Amino acid sequence: MRLVSTRAGAEPARFSEAILRGLAPDGGLYVPERFPRVSAATLAALRTRLDRFDAFAALLLRPFFARDPLADDLQAICSEAFDFPVTLAAVSGSPTAVLELYHGPTAAFKDVGARFLAGCLDRTGSATPDTAPRTVLVATSGDTGAAVAAAFHGRPHLEVGVLFPSGGVSLRQERQLTCWDGNVRSFAVRGAFDDCQRMVKAAFAHPPRSGDEPGSATAARLTTANSINIGRLLPQVVYYAWSALVYQERTGEAPGVVVPSGNVGNAVAALWARQLGFPVRHVVLATNANRVVPDWFDTGEWRPRPSVRTLANAMDVGDPSNMERVFALYAGRDDLRDHASAASVDDPSIRDAIVRAEERWGRVLCPHTATAAHVRERLGSPHWIVVATAHPSKFPEVVEPLIGRVVPVPPRLRALLDRPTRVREIDAGADVLAELAGERA
Ligand SMILES: *Cc1c(COP(=O)(O)O)cnc(C)c1O
Repeated sequence: MRLVSTRAGAEPARFSEAILRGLAPDGGLYVPERFPRVSAATLAALRTRLDRFDAFAALLLRPFFARDPLADDLQAICSEAFDFPVTLAAVSGSPTAVLELYHGPTAAFKDVGARFLAGCLDRTGSATPDTAPRTVLVATSGDTGAAVAAAFHGRPHLEVGVLFPSGGVSLRQERQLTCWDGNVRSFAVRGAFDDCQRMVKAAFAHPPRSGDEPGSATAARLTTANSINIGRLLPQVVYYAWSALVYQERTGEAPGVVVPSGNVGNAVAALWARQLGFPVRHVVLATNANRVVPDWFDTGEWRPRPSVRTLANAMDVGDPSNMERVFALYAGRDDLRDHASAASVDDPSIRDAIVRAEERWGRVLCPHTATAAHVRERLGSPHWIVVATAHPSKFPEVVEPLIGRVVPVPPRLRALLDRPTRVREIDAGADVLAELAGERA
């Protein structure tokens, strides 16, 4: 299957080309050229694999890898990436289910996409004759950087630079960003998240020139692991397809999904699963007080604005870039409204939802998941999946005072928090690639 740009000004690309570029040459985002509806035969075959997530994933993703150099590696990539459970938990006394996506190494759903992308890029890198490592840059305000660092650590063909705002992340987040050695280097930028993002963009605008390599190949040595990279989004389709089929098998009903949303990548994956013909009835985007998406649903006007800080900080996005993929899939707002809706949740409601989930469901939620739980309570139809994007122990400052006890840290996350840290402070505006070269020397 070929991938095309949302701006329709670029040549179609294969999956392995698209993940190397990150962004399409015309500045758009890569999306599948078509969404072939899953056949009855494939659905039947997928239903026999519901207890083997990696095999389920490889079968579902196969059409997207047709004629791609990575096609033969797809099963291996899936087995390696999905080495942790994805579970659909029942909630006692309610038909609502909770899709737990936080059993990976950094206890957030971003492990799914980051690990899949790392496995793909690693194999793409080793396939080229020239063995200089590829450089992957990521600007982060929290979960993305940790998931990417964990997924790429120890892969000799890939070198990673993680940039985060110095003093702008929680203590526990900072430990996950700085506990790396070898091919992963962390930079605490004296500035804000926006400065980090600007520095990554500057590196792309002025890629390093190395002797006789033609410009495009040189530029291709640099890529991004932010969610504009389709290599992170595509594997996320898998857990929506999987959970909808599991839910349907349990109850006979097609579930809607409520997705805690920031940059809207995760919600796009849900819409794509629906588009492929999986039984996802409806997609609800739950945002925090950054309400540009719900406002668009209400007014039809797209008005990006500076982000505001909330308790669900991984969703503090004022100009969600993946909406471009939503606009590419649907002709207009009315068209999309049949399949999706959005609601904003303020901080007091996030706190309420955490307390209520503990009382009524016996579950401790992270602040992001709490936005979805809060929205779910306002919806009709009993058949909903609440998507749990992170483990509550990642946000003890918010969660523990509300429930009045300590949330135990899962062993894989604990292992990261106990590692020694290494980080360099750099100025906002510094040349990241020069800093990386300096660390290497
Ligand atoms: C990144 C993140 C989100 C938002 O996901 P998007 O794909 O950017 O919408 C939600 N919850 C958590 C815990 C996250 O880390």
